[in-house]
Amino acid sequence: MFETLSQRIRAAVDKLRGRGRISEADLKATLREIRMSLLEADVNFEVAKNFVNRVQEKTLGQAVLESLTPAEQILTVVYEELVQMLGGEAKQPVLKNEGNLWFMVGLQGSGKTTTTGKLAQFYKSKGRRPLLVAADTQRPAAREQLRILGEKIGVPVLEVADNERPETTRTRLQQHLTFDYRDLVIVDTAGRLQIDEALMDELAQLKHVLGPSETLLVVDSMTGQEALNVSKTFDERIGVSGLILTKLDGDARGGAALSARHVTGKPIYFAGVSEKLEGLEPFYPDRLAQRILG
Ligand code: GDP
Repeated sequence: MFETLSQRIRAAVDKLRGRGRISEADLKATLREIRMSLLEADVNFEVAKNFVNRVQEKTLGQAVLESLTPAEQILTVVYEELVQMLGGEAKQPVLKNEGNLWFMVGLQGSGKTTTTGKLAQFYKSKGRRPLLVAADTQRPAAREQLRILGEKIGVPVLEVADNERPETTRTRLQQHLTFDYRDLVIVDTAGRLQIDEALMDELAQLKHVLGPSETLLVVDSMTGQEALNVSKTFDERIGVSGLILTKLDGDARGGAALSARHVTGKPIYFAGVSEKLEGLEPFYPDRLAQRILG
């Protein structure tokens, strides 16, 4: 990911290397080039504009331009601002000692069910006792997919019945938890190929009845800016506490990853980096920024 962006930013800054002193015009030309490369990586227009403005504010002072190493100093500022663009400090979902119930939402095909399995495996390896809930009341195949994942990682899966009411799901979940102690319940909800009003109502109702401690939206980073529109709609209709970006391994441009924090206002908790169950990583803005600047 980020290959082209990375090359272009480095090339733009490299042009300033070896010069004792750079002019304001040189700096502005470099920033224009960086802005273009962000836009071509499919970064949201406002996010790219604000980024360049902040870098300009921090570097336009004479101290940077007249320093012995202006290129290095500009690169440091670009790095700091990239970290901010990606969300600043790395954030994780809130995990209490017990009573954690996470609600997974997202479009069909985004990687929601796979990510639900990945999360269960990730937290199981940290000593947690997850329980998965396959909550798609319309698609038995979706429930089966989660059941198979659960068997693979050795985590139980509670399946809803066709057209089960949210209150019934809540009662069955409570009953399950009385005989099988679990400290992290992850609910894989129904997904559809597009935003679907009936589905949004169903999800909002299930969320209201189950009262999750986190609502995690799974978005496919390869869909670029569309992923961010989807995020905004899910947040308006259901309320989202954090994002998980999938398929970063197949996303050459990286625009959704770079813009998501500022466009949606939500932290990015994890990134999906392969189809495998181990392919989930906590999202570290500083490491990604370092990777971009090589
Ligand atoms: P759902 O319909 O949202 O539940 O999506 P699935 O979990 O069934 O995933 C859809 C497809 O995306 C499957 O082929 C997954 O293996 C694949 N997938 C999910 N996450 C990732 C990821 O991070 N990287 C890659 N390369 N593929 C992924």
